[in-house]
Amino acid sequence: MNGTQNNIDVWQVRSAKLAQFLCLLVLTLVVAACPRNDKGTNAPRAGVSERAAETNSLVPGATAFNGERAMDHVLKQIEFGPRIPGSAQLVKTREYIINTLKSSGLNVRTDEFNVSTPVGEKKMVNITAEIPGESKDVIIISSHYDTKLFTNMQFVGANDPGSSVGTLLEIGRVLAASKQKPKFTYWLVFFDGEEAFCEEWDQCSKPDAPDNTYGSRHFVSQLRNNNELGRVRALILLDMMGYKNLELGRDDMSTRWLQDIVWRTAHDLGYGKYFVDRPEGVGGDDHEPFLRAGIDALDLIQLAGYPYWHRADDTADKVSPQSMKVVGDVVLASLPRIDQYLQSKSR
Ligand SMILES: [Zn+2]
Repeated sequence: MNGTQNNIDVWQVRSAKLAQFLCLLVLTLVVAACPRNDKGTNAPRAGVSERAAETNSLVPGATAFNGERAMDHVLKQIEFGPRIPGSAQLVKTREYIINTLKSSGLNVRTDEFNVSTPVGEKKMVNITAEIPGESKDVIIISSHYDTKLFTNMQFVGANDPGSSVGTLLEIGRVLAASKQKPKFTYWLVFFDGEEAFCEEWDQCSKPDAPDNTYGSRHFVSQLRNNNELGRVRALILLDMMGYKNLELGRDDMSTRWLQDIVWRTAHDLGYGKYFVDRPEGVGGDDHEPFLRAGIDALDLIQLAGYPYWHRADDTADKVSPQSMKVVGDVVLASLPRIDQYLQSKSR
C-alpha cells in the first residue's frame, strides 16, 4: 500500500520534471532557431515563430503518452494468445495493430512475404505507419510483434513483445495528434518473425540464412531493392522495455551518438535511473540488419535484467504502464533532438 503511495509521489515529482524539461526544450529549440543561418542570409522572423509553434506539440496539455492506453494494448495482445508467425492469432494481432494505427489517423501499409524456416514455409507481414515530415528522409521507430514458438508451454509474451508493441501504438497516437509536421518523416514499423523457430537464437542458423529477424532482414532487403537505404537516417528499436522494474543498459552493438541522445534526454526528463550506463550485450536483434546496411540504429532492451524472458510467466503482471510511459516519453522527446543532430550533419 505504501509502495503505491510512494509510486504516486515519485510520479508527481517526475511529471513536474517532465514539464520543466519540456519548457526548457521549447526554449532551446526557439533559441536554436534564431541565430542559425546556414544559407548566409537573415533568418526570416516567420521561421522563428513557426519553430516555436512546432515545439508546442511537446508542451504539456498537448497529447501526451498515456501508459494506461499502452497497457490496454498489451492486455489485448495477451488475449489473442501465443502469436506465432503464420498463426490465426497473429492475423488477429495484425488486424488489431492496423486498426489501432488507422484509428489514430495514420496511413498504414503492409508488406507480405514468404520465407522458409526450420519449420517450413511461412507467410509473414511487416506493418508500416507513416507520419510525413518536411523531409523525405526517414527515422524509424520499431518493434517486432510475433511471439516465440514454444511447444512445451503457453507463452503469451507480455513484455516480449507486448510492451514494445503497446508503446509503439501509443507513440503513434501521440505523433498523429501533433499539429506540426516533423522535420523528418517517421515510420513506425512492426516486424514479423523476429523470434527464432528453433529453441536457441542461432541453433538452426546457417551462414546465409539465420533463423531469426525474418521481418527486419526482409525490410532492409526491400529498402535496398527500392534504392531507399539512403533515406533511412536512424532506427530506434523497442524490445522488452515494459518491465515494472525497468532498467535499460546500453546495448553494445547500438550506434553511440543515437544512444547518447536518448540517454541524455532520459536524464533531462528525470528518468536517468532507468537508463543506466551498464553495458547490455544483446548479441543481435532487429536493429542488426540495419546496422549491417550502414544505418545508425539503437536497441532499447532489458534482456539480462528480465528474469521472465522466454518463460511462461512473461505475463501482464510483469509489465507496468509507468515503464512504458518512461520509454514512450523519452523516445518522443528524443525525436526532435535526433532531427536536429541529423540536420546539423551535412549530407
Ligand atoms: Zn523474444
